[in-house]
Amino acid sequence: MSTDNTRETLGFQAEVRQLLKLMIHSLYSNKEIFLRELISNASDAADKLRFEALAAPDLLGGDTELGIRVAYDKDARTISVSDNGIGMSREELVENLGTIARSGTAEFLSRMTGDEKEDARLIGQFGVGFYSAFIVADRVVVEARRAGLDAGEGVRWESDGQGEFTVEAAEVESRGTCVTLHLKDSETEFAESMRLENLIHKYSDHIAFPVTLAGAGEDDEEKVVNLATALWARPRSDISDEEYREFYKHLSHDFADPLRWSHNQVEGKREYTSLLYIPANAPFDLWNREAPRGLKLYVQRVFIMDDAEQFLPLYLRFVKGVVDSSDLPLNVSRELLQQNPDLQAMRGAMTRRVLDMLAKMAADEGDDYRNFWRQFGPVMKEGLIEDPANKEKLSQLLRFATTHGKGADQDQSLDDYVSRMQESQDRIYYLLADNHSTAIASPHLERLRKKDIEVLLLTDRIDPWLVDALRDYDGKELADVAREGLSLPEGDGAMTQDVANEQHKPLLKKIKRVLKDRVEGVNVSRRLVDSPACVVAGEGDLNPSLKRMLEASGQSLPEARPILEVNVEHPLVERLSAEADDERFSALSNVLLDHALLAEGSQIENPAEYVARMNRLLLELDSAPAAK
Ligand code: ADP
Ligand code: MG
Repeated sequence: MSTDNTRETLGFQAEVRQLLKLMIHSLYSNKEIFLRELISNASDAADKLRFEALAAPDLLGGDTELGIRVAYDKDARTISVSDNGIGMSREELVENLGTIARSGTAEFLSRMTGDEKEDARLIGQFGVGFYSAFIVADRVVVEARRAGLDAGEGVRWESDGQGEFTVEAAEVESRGTCVTLHLKDSETEFAESMRLENLIHKYSDHIAFPVTLAGAGEDDEEKVVNLATALWARPRSDISDEEYREFYKHLSHDFADPLRWSHNQVEGKREYTSLLYIPANAPFDLWNREAPRGLKLYVQRVFIMDDAEQFLPLYLRFVKGVVDSSDLPLNVSRELLQQNPDLQAMRGAMTRRVLDMLAKMAADEGDDYRNFWRQFGPVMKEGLIEDPANKEKLSQLLRFATTHGKGADQDQSLDDYVSRMQESQDRIYYLLADNHSTAIASPHLERLRKKDIEVLLLTDRIDPWLVDALRDYDGKELADVAREGLSLPEGDGAMTQDVANEQHKPLLKKIKRVLKDRVEGVNVSRRLVDSPACVVAGEGDLNPSLKRMLEASGQSLPEARPILEVNVEHPLVERLSAEADDERFSALSNVLLDHALLAEGSQIENPAEYVARMNRLLLELDSAPAAK
């Protein structure tokens, strides 16, 4: 016979070992969730079998009533959860219960802090699934038989959760999987009828398969405990918030409650039901483009696939939920789905439903939307770029930090901004910067601040693209305060750039001559108050923070020199203007530019040269003519 008959001892993948250790510690106060996880897996296994049986009805054999059974034995101190679903082969068992396939897991686990509450939150986002059995058990035995295989082809898996597990061939009477927990001495209270019945209610009323509870005692009668109807198929008015929440946890593997949900039964030309949830926390792999996303797809209650990403745009990848169609064919594949003529309409409707849910959340008083934006703000911004059809709805959902807000929190809407605009103001001003502290210190804000004009402070990586896609809001154009040709509300607009430059022509020309290799031009600034100089981008040039980002990602960009703006009222510029010594004039001009670059967060090309120049100027302090 093959090695399949011999007993093998294997080590858990390093990530599993780490997870087991962390989990037992951090989820201790939440230990009853093991039952939810095991029932959830059993339900998935029944779903999968029903799906495979569509193409291969023989897989069901004579055993067509799919269900889940929870059995307990007080004396033996065991609980078992069994199903007659898809089961597992030996290879599948080793793979599924010995490794974690999600990419980024190792990095995620390394973020664990040792702080119980914080780790529980993190682990909750990740989902621990089957391994949660080890919170209450010191030995777990899994017996499985893949649908389609004979009793003699079963397999037995066993582990104490310490680092190794064994697998061996076993005679397994019926199809499916049975997970038996040998409870720790401290957890024997779980092997008790009322306790289990309550937990099953809590964790599986929404599950579409019957869950029966059976005790080992003579008088214990076996009974179905849950409702055994797919939750989304029930009328909304019959479903409690608690049931919606539990269903979400089953669906998403998230431990936290969802922020909101939207349940719709659509009738008419297309008939389908959707139940969409907004999670409270971003998953650890939100930024991994390959991470699975999408809804769970059912056709007439039959599970068809996980992660059907076709029903929502990429920027709504954090939404969890199910869609159950009455019209799609049962044999629908990902390819067929993509070509389905109804898909676009369903996708459009579900996208609007999510956006409406968010708009409602934003309109409600309270912290929900603020928390949502903290978690998902940058993803929502992708929507403006990806989904121009919903531009209006999306732009109302945007939140920003502004010069009128408190701190770096992004909590001001464009409507908030517009309501505070000055009478003569017809633009929405924004500043792009690498981070909040650079933004609030930016010289570009000086004049606007003095006139009390609000400026949006944009510091997310995606913001340069966002402002490009947004362009205007409520009929007001967006204007970059760090760009040439900035026009401010009346007063300053009176003097155009040309007129201002004309008055200081000799000085500007002289600076330009000295800095000709470093700047595109030199202008008199109308936006500075306290600083001597700043750099701005030309009308058609890339914004400097976008440029830095693209360069950091390895792109080579055409050389674009900035425009230097000088504040002719600043003593330093007056001093420059009075400087007769050519060498000193050149040194001062260069330093002026270097400081302007540093202030906006750019690097100076030649720091050593800057330092040498600066040192020379410092040494000359005594002999320099006094500034007036
Ligand atoms: P998840 O459910 O998120 O995939 P789990 O840790 O809960 O993660 O389970 C890991 C995998 O083990 C499942 O994806 C499934 O392939 C397999 N599995 C677990 N329980 C069962 C079961 N009762 N029947 C069949 N397969 C199962
Ligand atoms: Mg699971």
